[in-house]
Amino acid sequence: MKTFKIILISALAVLGIFFLTAKFRNKRPNIIIITIDALRRDHLGCYGYGRLTSPNIDELAKKGVLFDQAITQAPVTAGSVPSLFSSTYPSTNGHCLLSEEPILLSLPTLSSILQEHGYFTAAISAHGELFSETPGLEDSFDTISDTFKEPADILTNRVIKWFKWFGMNKRKPFFLWIHYFDTHAPYQPPNPYDRMFVTSNPSLKEINLRQDFKTSGLFPGKTRNLDRKTADYYICQYDGGIRFIDDQINLIVNFLKNRGLFKNTIIVITADHGENLYDRKKQFGHGFMLYDVLLRVPLIFVYQDHLPAGTVINRQVQLIDITPTLLKLAGIKTGLPFEGRDLSSLMSGKRETGESYAFSEIEQGEVIMRAVRLPDWKLIEVEYPGSINEYELYNLKKDPNELTNLVVQEKWEFDRKIKYRFDSLRAKLEKWRWRDKGAYKLIYEVHPLDEDSKTNLKVLGYFE
Ligand SMILES: [Zn+2]
Repeated sequence: MKTFKIILISALAVLGIFFLTAKFRNKRPNIIIITIDALRRDHLGCYGYGRLTSPNIDELAKKGVLFDQAITQAPVTAGSVPSLFSSTYPSTNGHCLLSEEPILLSLPTLSSILQEHGYFTAAISAHGELFSETPGLEDSFDTISDTFKEPADILTNRVIKWFKWFGMNKRKPFFLWIHYFDTHAPYQPPNPYDRMFVTSNPSLKEINLRQDFKTSGLFPGKTRNLDRKTADYYICQYDGGIRFIDDQINLIVNFLKNRGLFKNTIIVITADHGENLYDRKKQFGHGFMLYDVLLRVPLIFVYQDHLPAGTVINRQVQLIDITPTLLKLAGIKTGLPFEGRDLSSLMSGKRETGESYAFSEIEQGEVIMRAVRLPDWKLIEVEYPGSINEYELYNLKKDPNELTNLVVQEKWEFDRKIKYRFDSLRAKLEKWRWRDKGAYKLIYEVHPLDEDSKTNLKVLGYFE
């Protein structure tokens, strides 16, 4: 009898291992995208920042792949999120501007494709208007929580609760999109983060950030010359917001590790766009400009045992590359005409040659702004009604802060090298502008913002 029991137990064990292995083989990785609103890459330790804003993100970056030149396709959430999810440029998906009447995002998205392939999809956000700005995106999420300006700790509690709830339904892999908001103006992190980086005159403690934000506006176009000390104080608060989020991300990572989920989960950390921190026109915020402070974002992929740890990639990539890359890592083939590309072989060490261009764009009223960027050069085109174009050309290697516009008649007529750059980038931009969009079946369906959404976006400074 005893022998029979042992044989039975052994047989069951073998059977169990067989099923476990079969299950494991079939199981796709979980995917988490963490977008941190308005997070500049150069304010993170892993991108060389001097302040200790991101010890936990830095640790994660050591376990994965960090892209040093990642470019967003739009300098506002309403433009970059549709691009990231549909892997198309704003002028392809119809989201070139922040509009009171956004159109339906009718193209397939990362979340809709994952959902079709058996993923449970969830979005937990502190933006509040992510889905009203991008109508149609909500259909591809099984659960959504998008609460206006929720602090990172409360948002993280929501994430942990969601994990615990989802744990009971673990049969499916999950895709979770987390959007933190504490790095968005008016930068008001809680104690102790509000004091963490403040070293200057203690009287600044009295500054009422919210009031100042309301009266001056921290957005491009609402000029008020802030003095350097006040600006530094704002930057300290912005950095405090990063550290606040960084500590919360650590809680999520630890939770994943404790539940044995970390190994089978791909984590992507990025931002929808950067932030102007007094760099341009002594202003703060983001919006109608295409300088690097808004276009360069952090991009980190972590997938333990699948992606080479501690890799830094200098080749220029775009936010629209995230969707094809994640689908490839999840083993999903779609045949869809993405405008972004799969970065998985680049992450695995494949060397690439040739130029790698990035394109970004934004509209405001009847003015359209477009940029084509190489790691060392950028051309910005501003198109006014009547096809009147203005250009700005920057040598990013010599002038990373984009302070000297080389499109000055006398200069580029005399310097053949600069003239060559201008002509070739303008030709590239023209070719890209008139690219074939025939493969994309857009449905032009307008979904006007309701009054609550308009009010929220006004509070954030986007509408008058
Ligand atoms: Zn944003």
